[in-house]
Amino acid sequence: MLRLPAANRLPGRCSDGRGIVERIHETGTPAVVQMQRQFRTNNETFVVDNQGADAIGFDALFAMFSTKISNFATAKMVLGPGKRWNPDQEQSRWLYFALGFLLENRMQLMEIDIKDAARTLLDVVCTGRIRHRAVDIRNERNFGREVLRIIGYRRSYLVKRLNVPGNPQELREFFEREQQPLPLAFDEDLFRVELPRDLIELMKRHDPGKFQTVRLSQDPLEAAKAVNRFARNFFRPYIAAIENLPVTVSAPLSQRVYSLDTVQFDDDLRASLLINRAQELPVLAKAHFSSTRDRAVLEEIVRDLLTRPEVRELVDRHLRVTPRAGHTSKRIGLQSYFQRFDEHSERQAVASAQWQRIGSVSHELMHFYCHKDFEAKSGAVSFGHVITEGFTELMGLELLEALRRGVAQGERSLTDRLRGEAAAEEFIEAARGPAGRESYKTALQRAREVENRVGPQNVWAAYFLGKPELIGL
Ligand SMILES: [Zn+2]
Repeated sequence: MLRLPAANRLPGRCSDGRGIVERIHETGTPAVVQMQRQFRTNNETFVVDNQGADAIGFDALFAMFSTKISNFATAKMVLGPGKRWNPDQEQSRWLYFALGFLLENRMQLMEIDIKDAARTLLDVVCTGRIRHRAVDIRNERNFGREVLRIIGYRRSYLVKRLNVPGNPQELREFFEREQQPLPLAFDEDLFRVELPRDLIELMKRHDPGKFQTVRLSQDPLEAAKAVNRFARNFFRPYIAAIENLPVTVSAPLSQRVYSLDTVQFDDDLRASLLINRAQELPVLAKAHFSSTRDRAVLEEIVRDLLTRPEVRELVDRHLRVTPRAGHTSKRIGLQSYFQRFDEHSERQAVASAQWQRIGSVSHELMHFYCHKDFEAKSGAVSFGHVITEGFTELMGLELLEALRRGVAQGERSLTDRLRGEAAAEEFIEAARGPAGRESYKTALQRAREVENRVGPQNVWAAYFLGKPELIGL
């Protein structure tokens, strides 16, 4: 018997017109599947819910078909004893809610063929390939996800429509897979001499302590929400891969975004920043460093550097202004201090800071949505940074550019949602200037080369849907 807390029995369709996919992802609102319905047959009204003792017969399914799928092969021709599908009573109950869920959310189930999906559900359930009891339906969200999984939405469905890259061999070589013959020997001596020196120099060159800063007082969550809303439309339909969401499905964005102002840093965090920054140094290529084979040496050097108090302080100044996204926690930390440029007036400085914040959000949000099967590939190539940061920066920039274009072209509501505490005039003016992000240049350039070969659709699908083979990996 399917049991749900009574309080969760709310309409399947959200009041703001968005359906399950959006709602699951953005808010984690539990009420996404309608588990109580009414239908009329023979002038009688029946109430069906998920815990009723009454059997759900074919009548309910017929009602579902005839009112919702007008030209689905007449239900009576295909359902029932001796027909193509003959669900028992409990199977009927399960199908009743599953089909209802599908139909009511079909606007959100982009590009899916609703008849194929219904047939799949009937086939799978009626042939006993899946027992309804085996399906985790302790709550609506699990139920909804299970239905989506059974019909193959959206990973397999969307991916079927994409072309695999024309020359995978060429791409494989590009990524320098580990199985490539003769990886060059690691020049550890050179690495141990030059890496610490170059890394500290890099950190000092960009020491935030040397910059004038401007502080935004508004909570970063508002900007994150506005960018998120835009991003979900911009990367449609590849974003929001429902299958990659064991974590994100259950929490609203407001629980995922935090301010760095009050965070205490520890050595693990400091080390991870230094390792991240080290990836961009030329000495890696010079010493034939492999991020899979030689990572322990890098880690050791970094830990050693962190025993020096002045290095820790330098790193902490960076951490305070460096946004981040946890790969497993999917939490996004955002800063409040931004670089202030001499030539800017007070109002221009705030507008510029807000755009810097939007740039940070755009990048970190991509980490948030990145599929774990894509991230996992960073361990399979020698320059893993192109996977973890290169593609993230590439797509974050595509998003940022689209936002800037919209504001520069005078889209009023977008401007108002994005500008935070910046004045509209300066905010629009800043959108027309150069973007000025300079992160992960080497990794970004390589990701861009891949995109030029396979096209943005394959890159987006690979990244959000966890299909790295679409970019030749
Ligand atoms: Zn990043």
